[in-house]
Amino acid sequence: MSEGDILSDLIEGRISVQQAEQALDEILDSSLAADVQNQLGFSRAEWTAYAYGASLSELASWRQDGWPDRCIVCGNQIEIDRFGWIVIDVMGASRLKHISCPES
Ligand SMILES: [Zn+2]
Repeated sequence: MSEGDILSDLIEGRISVQQAEQALDEILDSSLAADVQNQLGFSRAEWTAYAYGASLSELASWRQDGWPDRCIVCGNQIEIDRFGWIVIDVMGASRLKHISCPES
């Protein structure tokens, strides 16, 4: 399980969240750490969100069901692929907010 697409594996139920986290840890501890995004099949946006604190299970559900693409401050749509957003924790769930939000 050193290469592949762990979010798809999670979505399809081939691995557990715990196994996915373990696979990620193994890559990050290895010589492949710099290539972790490709090794585990993350998109650039997914890996960015993970770095901001979104969990693997959240990323899997976002890939399957769509991202929470409304800014939690101003309510306007966020274009995920254009970046300019950060992930913040709202009552234990990851949500997106504009970096330069017109409302803050
Ligand atoms: Zn906003």
